[in-house]
Amino acid sequence: MISFPICSSSWPWTSSSSLPSSDLPVRLRTDPDAIAAASNDYGNLVHEAPSAVLYPSSIQEIVDLIKLSNNCSTPFTVAARGRGHSVRGQAMAGGGVVVEMAALSRNGGGIRVSWSPSLGYYADVGGEETWADVLRAGLEHGLAPVSWTDYLYLTVGGTLSNAGISGQSFLRGPQISNVLELDVITGKGDLLTCSKDTNSELFFAVLGGLGQFGIITRARIVLEKAPTRAKWVRLIYNDFSMFTRDQEHLISTNLINGPNYVEGSLITDQSPPNNWRSSFYSPSDQAKILSLLRAKQGLLYSIEVVKYYDDTNTDTIDQEVELLVKDLNNIGGFVFNKDVSFVEFLSRVGNSSSSSSSSREIGDNELEEAHPWLNLFLPKSRIMDFNDAVLANIILRHNHTSGPILFYPFNRHKWDDRMSAVIPDEEIFYTLGLLHSSRPHQSDVYDNLNKEILEYCEKADINVKQYLPHYKSKEDWMKHFGRKWDSFQERKTKFDPRIILSPGQTIFTSLM
Ligand code: FAD
Repeated sequence: MISFPICSSSWPWTSSSSLPSSDLPVRLRTDPDAIAAASNDYGNLVHEAPSAVLYPSSIQEIVDLIKLSNNCSTPFTVAARGRGHSVRGQAMAGGGVVVEMAALSRNGGGIRVSWSPSLGYYADVGGEETWADVLRAGLEHGLAPVSWTDYLYLTVGGTLSNAGISGQSFLRGPQISNVLELDVITGKGDLLTCSKDTNSELFFAVLGGLGQFGIITRARIVLEKAPTRAKWVRLIYNDFSMFTRDQEHLISTNLINGPNYVEGSLITDQSPPNNWRSSFYSPSDQAKILSLLRAKQGLLYSIEVVKYYDDTNTDTIDQEVELLVKDLNNIGGFVFNKDVSFVEFLSRVGNSSSSSSSSREIGDNELEEAHPWLNLFLPKSRIMDFNDAVLANIILRHNHTSGPILFYPFNRHKWDDRMSAVIPDEEIFYTLGLLHSSRPHQSDVYDNLNKEILEYCEKADINVKQYLPHYKSKEDWMKHFGRKWDSFQERKTKFDPRIILSPGQTIFTSLM
């Protein structure tokens, strides 16, 4: 007879009369391997052991698990785990049950591509599927999603719980803006279909909802005809105002025949032109940039611009790209071009040491490191102050900074304010991604750097919002959600009243 400590003294199926009818008992594992895997994540900073791990073979088993928790006098917590690519334990459930969503993988049957006159092309995708799987399934029909993350081995349920951002978001919105419908198991154990028109409160709550309101088991994702190739250009700057002015020009919705993708980043000694995110440059181009970097006090900026194409505009694409970049203010002679397949472009992250055209999952070496990342959204009106104090000062003099540093803009009107995701209150805002890697015992150094940046923003009254947020106190969470806090709390009471779901986010557990 299976018996776990998770439902205090009265674990329901210790008496044969209350055995659940599903396979739930046999799908729960408590062996050391299962517990260890669910007690770590990509961040390698937080380690919380669950009491058990569910490897579901059906959605009904997840429903049963959540219902079971609700039936306990003291409910146990439940966290869906996509690929565990969070960095601060957000997919963990100390003492509760982690649901390994990958186990649902429905033998390739988790993705179905369809078309309807009112919706156009779309894919119904299991929440456990990765974006790499969605790309593969779409391309079998010549179709692809319109909004991506830089790295494709993240799950649909995991990125929709945050936002899902990349260089396409300025044009198409984040991934949460490109979802037509969801199936969600709420914290009460109800399996509901929701959309803008049906159960809309649940729909908007879940998008960017940090796993607080339900477990996404299906998402209907917008697709369109996939381009076949990409012209990929990188431009180098040493002037922050030109770097940002040009990015804002490129993301302007007034631009005729504009780019499909725009992402800015910093180049420093610790964040070199080629890194684990990208192996764009040839050795000679890399040497040329590094020599410029030495001449420019160790700080350069780079814009990546991409324009997709296919058979219909092969003859004109070079001219289109030339028009796009000819009046930009980059350093003369520092324009680098590539012409790659659409799949090669989307697979660029995690592919840095591989010459194959398909992306791979982050390797074991990277997983042995700690990743004390900081991701922020910043209002455009304060980016000059931020550059002076943070990019050209705090980060530059911090010799330990290591890993890519992203800095690129979005258009707010591509985000729906009814969603739980939180962004600054200005039409143009930027993201900063400090994607540090460190030896686990050195992560404090990076935590201190992150703290110094956040303290500067607080003192300078720059209203930043963390992306993939991590706070420890109720006050900080209230401040993070700002005017959305009341509705966030009300939705929690409505959809997960016993505070069962995604405890690793420490939003409501910090209130208990
Ligand atoms: P997990 O880390 O497993 O889970 C994240 C949260 O979502 C947890 O709270 C979990 O309980 C909850 N959750 C998971 N599945 C579900 C579900 N089905 N239903 C409801 N809740 C669920 N983000 C970007 O936006 N853009 C990027 O370009 C990008 N690149 C990245 C590159 C790397 C190498 C890494 C490590 C992360 C990157 N991220 C990026 C961050 C990523 O979006 C988050 O880590 C996100 O959480 C997705 O990871 P995951 O699928 O492994 O989810």
